[in-house]
Amino acid sequence: MPTGRAAVLEDYGEDLKLWEVQVDDPGPGEVLVRMAYSGVCHTDEHVVTGDLPLPVPMVLGHEGAGVVEAIGPGVTRLRPGDRVVLSWLPACGRCQACRSGWTGMCRTTSRAAEKGTLWDGAVRVHAHGRPLSVMSLTGTLATYAVVPEQGAVAVDADVPLAQAALLGCSATTGYGAVAHAARLRPGASVTVIGVGGVGLHVVQASRLMGAERIFAVDRFPARLEAARRLGATDLVRVGEGEGDALVRILDATGGMGTDYAFEVVGTPATIAQAFNAVRPGGTAVVVGVAPPHEEVSLNAFAFPSQGKTLTGTWYGGGDLAEDVAALLGAQRAGRIHLEAFLGEPFPLERVNDAFAALRAGSATRPMVALGGEP
Ligand SMILES: [Zn+2]
Ligand SMILES: [Zn+2]
Repeated sequence: MPTGRAAVLEDYGEDLKLWEVQVDDPGPGEVLVRMAYSGVCHTDEHVVTGDLPLPVPMVLGHEGAGVVEAIGPGVTRLRPGDRVVLSWLPACGRCQACRSGWTGMCRTTSRAAEKGTLWDGAVRVHAHGRPLSVMSLTGTLATYAVVPEQGAVAVDADVPLAQAALLGCSATTGYGAVAHAARLRPGASVTVIGVGGVGLHVVQASRLMGAERIFAVDRFPARLEAARRLGATDLVRVGEGEGDALVRILDATGGMGTDYAFEVVGTPATIAQAFNAVRPGGTAVVVGVAPPHEEVSLNAFAFPSQGKTLTGTWYGGGDLAEDVAALLGAQRAGRIHLEAFLGEPFPLERVNDAFAALRAGSATRPMVALGGEP
């Protein structure tokens, strides 16, 4: 039973605290992962604020990569020493959603995630003699994580684990929004509202899939500049003294709007803005995670008269192993630039500085180094 350290949210609105934790050996079908890197995501921040109320105290973090240290009974796909990306949405394969092919809506996983446990209520992390909940079956802001075998995807030995960590949430979500939810066609025009940690991946994936014109909308100049480097053709700054973003996009497209719009903020206003930014017959995709009680107001007449589609995506809606392979193939071919998302990593002791960087609109993904890169 290894002893490790974990970044724990003791109560909503507080800074994270570093706790010494005891981690059980992996149970049947589980693997113990020595964590190398964990990103800090807006969904973590939603837990900190209480907008996404999960049971505390909880080990936060759900975007991570590391090295398998031990495997539980019955594990067949992974071996100690494998470098893995962790999934916060593993498919049990047995629930009604999984059996209907909706593995991204796995009920076993969503029930466990609400309780902060693994499948079937198992808890593998303890502190002060008590079980400790972990975020989204992962809890990556820790030196160790125990996850279901289905929640770890092996990558080649030469893949840098900080890049691999991005594939655990932001890169895959952004890519899947474009490739699966929108099924973006080459030559398309695109609006991306919010070019932070996920939105920049939407920009990059849109370019990868052949979009010709990409409007990036954000209030932070550094993020807009990053969007430009990753393929955005039109930068639309919002905020005080700036014009209305929607008006500017409509003006620039002959009053039509773009073929696709991606909302990557998670507010009712920006969701409506994305819907209004697409041309008749176009598709708007909600990627941003709004607090669960929020509602959106849209013009009802626009649905029949303009034939627009409004849809959403949760973790990209694809098969994680396939999407990881596609993204790493594109990275190898120089067609995407995961390295552009990475700044200097924060040591675990400075995890709260990583959250501060997220809140300040960092143009790179705040990444916490956990020591497990061999
Ligand atoms: Zn995330
Ligand atoms: Zn399932």
